[in-house]
Amino acid sequence: METKILQNTDREIAYAAELLRQGEAVGMPTETVYGLGCDAGNPDAVKKVFAAKGRPADNPLIVHIADLADWAPLVQEIPPLAKKLAERFWPGPLTIILPRTDAVPAITAGGLDTVGIRFPAHPVAQALIRAAGVPVAAPSGNRSGSPSPTNAAHMFADMDGRIPAILDGGSCICGVESTVIQLDDAESVRVLRPGFVTPEQLQTVAAHVTVDPAVLAKVTEGTVVRSPGMKYRHYAPKAKVTLVQGDQPHFLAYMKQHTGSGVYALCFDADVPLCEAAGICCMPYGDTDEARAAAFFSSLRELDALGASHVYVRAPRTDGVGLAVYNRLIRAAGYDIVRAG
Ligand code: AMP
Ligand code: MG
Repeated sequence: METKILQNTDREIAYAAELLRQGEAVGMPTETVYGLGCDAGNPDAVKKVFAAKGRPADNPLIVHIADLADWAPLVQEIPPLAKKLAERFWPGPLTIILPRTDAVPAITAGGLDTVGIRFPAHPVAQALIRAAGVPVAAPSGNRSGSPSPTNAAHMFADMDGRIPAILDGGSCICGVESTVIQLDDAESVRVLRPGFVTPEQLQTVAAHVTVDPAVLAKVTEGTVVRSPGMKYRHYAPKAKVTLVQGDQPHFLAYMKQHTGSGVYALCFDADVPLCEAAGICCMPYGDTDEARAAAFFSSLRELDALGASHVYVRAPRTDGVGLAVYNRLIRAAGYDIVRAG
């Protein structure tokens, strides 16, 4: 199958929407990462998404809407706290999990009786969902286990020949997948996956915000997890990845002891001159949490393209948006985390 790259024009968006209505899987831009979209209510279309990604059947898809009125039919009820969160953070990078109705087939929900709903902010995603006229189920558009794609070329690299089209909407602004939350009770939110909507921001709406322990820890075999995606190996490039904790002097000292052929440092911008002076091959991924979030998935893919065999990543902070980056990096590293100094 030839995979076409469609441009952000009314005509090509209408074509992508027609493919969705016909039960095809189509690549789409969102503000978080590129998604692999399909008609959420069509089990055959959903099967194509799982097959193209090689995604385990128990890992549910997030259902995307482009109008606030469109989530009521998908969920049993909208509790007041969910309504407040939607009003505050939608359209935007927040996924809210609630008990589902039969309008969401079991296969879309990975067999769970809940569904995650999101109203993306990206104008091209909104135009596509509206033109399709159906809720769009979309996991990240990578092959399962690989880094998420943050531009159309990276999605093409994973999906060429597997799907009919990818709609190109430029590079993603956030660069990390949405914040996934569930409601523990009428006033409490639990973060199952951190993203651009931070625990600190959620705290402005919910009285209690808990970050699920699985966000920062390795989920061991047999553990029951609230978010099935958290138990899989994830986001990993071909190169071996090690996450290095510590300040700049300690990071540099550690790198000096670990240089070699195919070894790269994925570092902060401010580390570059010092790395270069020390003969350490490096790639910067930003100096703010937001910049690092936007850059690290594509940086990991670029380092693969350069033939990197081992990438040492300077660990980001674990507050604010940094928590989302840290959560992805520990999984990309297969939990190989060292403390320098
Ligand atoms: P992705 O589609 O790649 O963005 O991954 C979606 C993430 O959201 C995965 O970690 C899923 O396990 C999680 N998720 C989606 N729907 C649910 C749900 N109903 N309950 C728990 N986690 C969910
Ligand atoms: Mg994913």
